[in-house]
Amino acid sequence: MPDSPVDEIFQAFADRGADHYGENVSQIEHALQCAYLAVEEGAGDHLVAAALLHDFGHLFEARGEVAESEGRDARHEIHGARALGRWFGRDVTGPVALHVAAKRYLCATEPAYEEALSAASRLSLKLQGGPFTAEERLAFERSPFAADAVRLRRWDDTGKIPDLAVPPLEHYRPLLERLAAA
Ligand code: FE
Ligand code: FE
Repeated sequence: MPDSPVDEIFQAFADRGADHYGENVSQIEHALQCAYLAVEEGAGDHLVAAALLHDFGHLFEARGEVAESEGRDARHEIHGARALGRWFGRDVTGPVALHVAAKRYLCATEPAYEEALSAASRLSLKLQGGPFTAEERLAFERSPFAADAVRLRRWDDTGKIPDLAVPPLEHYRPLLERLAAA
């Protein structure tokens, strides 16, 4: 019997979750912290799942490392959203696909935001195209997932705290199974 979607997702975390996130935490720590922050802020299930899985593209995208080592952006948010689209609806994949755009948006709209970014995040911003232009800003605001993507982005920026104690991956199994079945 093939693995369930959730087993497949958890396997990706088992295989690659220990990878360095580029800050002082691993991929799995970052994912779990983002999901935890989403729950703490009362986010709906779809957005908790998006927070947990927003960097899913990093977990299976071997090409990503090649691209990044060559100074190109691997567009992990797009690869991740596409993979997750096999199992989840747009309310999950939409914010995932836009979490990099949300950073570019916030850099363009909040002067203090860019200054507060981590060094790694500021470096990747350049590869990702830098702050949005006025036109790109408007296009972003028209997306039905813009507000969720901005909320997700703030957890993304915060969820890098070494040794923070948060619930484990298994904690999210029922939520993910519900969403994948819907
Ligand atoms: Fe990301
Ligand atoms: Fe992230």
